[in-house]
Amino acid sequence: MNKRLSTASGWLAATLTGAVAVGCSLSTPVIAPGASQIAGNVGTLSLQGRRFVQTGETAVSISYRSKAELQKLVDAGLDVWMVQPGTVSGAVSRQLLNELKENGVTFTMLSPTEGYSIRSTFDRGYQTTASLPGTMWALAAKYPAICKVEDFGDSWEKTTGKGGSDLLMFHIGAGNNKAQKPGIVFFGNHHARELVTVEIPLRLATLLLEGYGKDPAITDLVDTRDIYIAPMINPDGHVHAEKGESWRKNTHSDKADVTVEDRGYFGTDLNRNYGFKWASGGASSNPTDETYMGKSAFSEPETQAVRDFMVSHKNIKIMMSYHSFSNLILWPWGWSNSPTPDADKLSTIGKKLAAPGKYTPEQASDLYVASGITDDFTYGQLGMLSFTTEIGTWNDHFDPPYSRVDKFWGENKDGALYLIKLAGETNAAFGPEPRLENGKVVFDGHGVTGKVTEVETYVGKPGAPGTGTKVAVKGESIDLTGIEATGKGRVYARGRDANGNWGPAMAIRL
Ligand SMILES: [Zn+2]
Repeated sequence: MNKRLSTASGWLAATLTGAVAVGCSLSTPVIAPGASQIAGNVGTLSLQGRRFVQTGETAVSISYRSKAELQKLVDAGLDVWMVQPGTVSGAVSRQLLNELKENGVTFTMLSPTEGYSIRSTFDRGYQTTASLPGTMWALAAKYPAICKVEDFGDSWEKTTGKGGSDLLMFHIGAGNNKAQKPGIVFFGNHHARELVTVEIPLRLATLLLEGYGKDPAITDLVDTRDIYIAPMINPDGHVHAEKGESWRKNTHSDKADVTVEDRGYFGTDLNRNYGFKWASGGASSNPTDETYMGKSAFSEPETQAVRDFMVSHKNIKIMMSYHSFSNLILWPWGWSNSPTPDADKLSTIGKKLAAPGKYTPEQASDLYVASGITDDFTYGQLGMLSFTTEIGTWNDHFDPPYSRVDKFWGENKDGALYLIKLAGETNAAFGPEPRLENGKVVFDGHGVTGKVTEVETYVGKPGAPGTGTKVAVKGESIDLTGIEATGKGRVYARGRDANGNWGPAMAIRL
């Protein structure tokens, strides 16, 4: 009996069937009978149609009866792909697979053979580690007045003379005093195989740059905010993902002779390596696990680069990190089940971000405790409002066809713009959000905060709530007819709901 998974009263086995479901072929139902009884109708997760490759890992669905049991699996190094009521699915190492068997844990194999996990598909529509810098430089070169590409660090392979890459970010904003403006940062691809998480930041940068001078709201945000967008934090790992490997971590290895079975999973999980409450649960100390936390907090050059950048940019108010998949919006804490002092604000914003794609909004630890994550560092250490988005469904997996990116961008575009607005006045989170739609300013509470009942406008710059010119509200919008730029400056609008909460101001006329 392995003590990691056992308890005084025994592991999961007591009321489950006790039988270990192994060796299921792909055509058998993948949810074990015990699991479906516990979980109710959770649907059928399948990896049918996938190709499998020898990595030493095995894809499984595991039954759990309580959050504590789920947490034991995560603490033991389970690479979680998706959590459902009563069932968690993902990949286990050979060691953990053996422990499941030894402890009589009910699980179902999703892989056809032990030691074989999925081979990814890499759609050539996606950016590669090699193509991304050129794409970024070319885009920035079209808008030199408002965009630069900045090199903020090196990947592990670069720091160790093995090739590797620079870590690059767009720095978007007008004027020379950007550091005095409210800042925001977006990160993509801490986990290499999560391909879409490179594309969403790239779409955001493109939207801001192409919209500048055309869309009043975007133009004003670029003028008044300090915006950083880093699409790929893990370029070394991404090279493996491009070869069809289901690669999550960076490529840090201290072993000279990596065996076939090691090859699939050496490296450090960059989203378990951050130095706030590092190593306090939900991360593995075993280098062959997908959630390996690293030798020490901030042991990796990639997390060091993010840390040094964040610490030296105190004007940044909000951090968003994109991951895939599971259709989730998450906020701190990850390391603790306790709410943060800002729980009300984080959950209000998080629910609004979740609304367009009908994602599930929750505190990260509501899923399971995980430590060393980006959000806990940027919130816990630096006080920035911090979020993680998990994009896509089980069927999308980590490698959906590139054509799916349009849909994902549609689900996340408004949320990204909303965060940029909020960066200037985070206390406006509780009021209605203004948005320009077809010549109207629509105020949207996203079903989270109240409907707009009062609107005021300002000329020149957004004034404090209650100091503007009152405007008639029709339904949940104001008509822009009759609200003209006066020549004295930009026109801004701000709304208030029936509870008296003011939302952020937004430029509606240039
Ligand atoms: Zn991830």
